[in-house]
Parts: sequence; structure tokens; C-alpha cells
Amino acid sequence: MSECLFCKIARKEIPAALVYEDDDLVAFKDIFPQAPVHVLIIPKAHCEGLADLTPETAAAAARIPQVASRIAAEQGIQAGGWRLLSNCGADAGQTVFHLHFHLLGGKPLGGKLCQ
Ligand code: AMP
Ligand code: ZN
Repeated sequence: MSECLFCKIARKEIPAALVYEDDDLVAFKDIFPQAPVHVLIIPKAHCEGLADLTPETAAAAARIPQVASRIAAEQGIQAGGWRLLSNCGADAGQTVFHLHFHLLGGKPLGGKLCQ
């Protein structure tokens, strides 16, 4: 997936504000943050979204909640609380078709996930 934006970020071909990296995952600040802390966590291996998991991306994605909790602590939002979500497909509003989880926090996020 050489043209995929998030593949390029994972390969460091375009810049991003990285906050975490390991062999299989990378996390970086969202370019249009919706909350004081808004981090995207992605598997390095390309996968369009939750409907397209492969064994490799599923294994990497399974570790994302634990990594999110670590980043939340590092970003100072563990005590206040945080949200982890992934948009899958058009109705969910997915705009970048490389699997990613949004980690959001730093303010009250409200109780509703849809309008
Ligand atoms: P989604 O709408 O769930 O597909 O989320 C895609 C997210 O990617 C949006 O929140 C965008 O602001 C974010 N985004 C798009 N391009 C970049 C980029 N170059 N660096 C960081 N975040 C980006
Ligand atoms: Zn990709």
C-alpha cells in the first residue's frame, strides 16, 4: 500500500508527531485534534479497517487497548478518563482507510457516540 497516508507515516516517509512505537504499532498526534489529547494508534502493517483484519493485523490490533492505556498515562489523562474508538466504513465516518484507533481525552467527552 505504497500510496496509503498512514503507511507512509508508519514508514516515516511523511512527518507526524509520534508518541509511541514498537515493532508492530505506531501512535501519533492527530493533525486535527478533537480533544486536548487526540492520538491515533495504528498497526504498521496495512489493513483497511476492522472489517478487513488479517491474522497479522488482528494480533497487532489486540494490543492497542494496552498501548492506549500506556499513552493515556504518559499524556496525563489516565485519571480523568479517555475514549478509544475506531470508525469502520462510510456510515461511521472513516476517512483514512488504514486501520486506526482514536485515543481521546483531556476534557469531558460527552456521553453520546453519535448524533
Ligand atoms: P477517521 O475519520 O476515523 O478515518 O480518522 C482519520 C483521522 O486522521 C482524522 O481525525 C484526521 O484528522 C487524521 N489525519 C489525517 N491526516 C493526518 C496526518 N497527516 N497526520 C495525523 N493525522 C491525520
Ligand atoms: Zn496503509
